[in-house]
Amino acid sequence: MEFRLTEEQRALIAPVRRLAQTAFRERARRWMDGTFPWENLRDLARLGVLGMSVPEEYGGLGLPVFETALILEEIAKVCYPTAMAVLGEAGVQTRVIARYAPESIRARILPAVCAGECILAICMTEPHAGTDVASYRTNAVRRGDRWVVNGTKTLISRAAEAGMFVVFTRIEGRPGREGIGCVLIERGTPGLEVTGTFHTMGGENLHEVQFRDCAVPEENLVIREDGFRRLLSAFNTQRCLNPAISLGLAEGAFDEALRYVRERTVFGHPIADFQGVRWKLADMFKDIEAARGLLYRACATANPFPDPFLAATAKVFCNEMAIRVTSEAVQLHGGFGFTDEYPVSRLYRGARYGSLGGGASETLRDLIGKRLVGPDGPGPDGILGLGCF
Ligand SMILES: Cc1cc2nc3c(=O)[nH]c(=O)nc-3n(C[C@H](O)[C@H](O)[C@H](O)COP(=O)(O)OP(=O)(O)OC[C@H]3O[C@@H](n4cnc5c(N)ncnc54)[C@H](O)[C@@H]3O)c2cc1C
Repeated sequence: MEFRLTEEQRALIAPVRRLAQTAFRERARRWMDGTFPWENLRDLARLGVLGMSVPEEYGGLGLPVFETALILEEIAKVCYPTAMAVLGEAGVQTRVIARYAPESIRARILPAVCAGECILAICMTEPHAGTDVASYRTNAVRRGDRWVVNGTKTLISRAAEAGMFVVFTRIEGRPGREGIGCVLIERGTPGLEVTGTFHTMGGENLHEVQFRDCAVPEENLVIREDGFRRLLSAFNTQRCLNPAISLGLAEGAFDEALRYVRERTVFGHPIADFQGVRWKLADMFKDIEAARGLLYRACATANPFPDPFLAATAKVFCNEMAIRVTSEAVQLHGGFGFTDEYPVSRLYRGARYGSLGGGASETLRDLIGKRLVGPDGPGPDGILGLGCF
């Protein structure tokens, strides 16, 4: 086993770290009112890292999941809204286009994603159903040589900026999970309207999007059935990228707390001199490192996609760890931690997202528990026969 990042991995993240710790840190407060961090995305495009999930033939880096997670971690250390904007580009939606869209769409959209010029929104959640995907109502029906989509999606990230909407929809009203496919709808298509905005505690805006008789060409229906099963590998990859943001947020908050306890003096001492404070820091540190171990294992054993059980375990732990650690970082700042003056309050608010999106903790605990008691559970050859121990 090797616990060090390779030279190549270090070289990949070094410029991202420099950019994040300078320009992104300086600008971090700007995006808390829902303003989209275009400036940061353009900087990342200049570094060439925006096309992390885009195959090389379309100008991307085609990075493995581990390297993608490392880059997101660096960004999240200072700026949650930027990390979330980049997660969109590294996420399922880009993989849908790279894998399933026809060449005419890939050749047009993917280079624009790498350049930071085309934002992709993924539309799954509906007002009455998030986790319960079998209950989605959005429907696509065939009319002549077009597919016509009707439905409402909600809590959609980047909808105000997106050039392309990757929409999960029922096909011809077929029921259940298996009846769901995926259609690409471009901004400007008649009937597509962003109808509502929710400002979030993390800073970014989410939106409601309506599709009313949105007609798209035949080739835009990129998955015709069983879309969730076909995309399982992409969802499992996402389950390693979302916790990479949680890990980064916790590390960022820990660094801020460490700096603060050395500087802040009470009763004639820096608060770092108090044992109670040092114990808090020790607990935060061990929490972060345990999470890193789980996440990096899930990423480093991906071949090329992560094992669903390892990804789920890492995600639940990292998401919940980030809430604990960022909360303690606020606590260590005293009353100032609750103000906007210090970054910890932003990092804390961002940390609350992880366990809600990309598979909520409750659903993932279900998945983990089923595997533990099911036929693929622990056997005499070690933990789950995953070959890790
Ligand atoms: C910041 C942010 C960004 C988002 N971006 C997007 C986006 O870009 N695109 C998109 O489509 N969606 C997006 N979402 C929505 C997100 O995917 C959903 O919120 C999520 O899937 C949960 O669905 P829900 O909110 O409808 O909760 P529900 O499904 O109503 O669940 C409510 C609660 O019940 C729990 N629960 C559900 N089923 C079970 C069960 N069987 N056993 C035990 N507990 C259960 C859930 O875990 C949760 O705690 C975003 C959400 C946030 C917060």
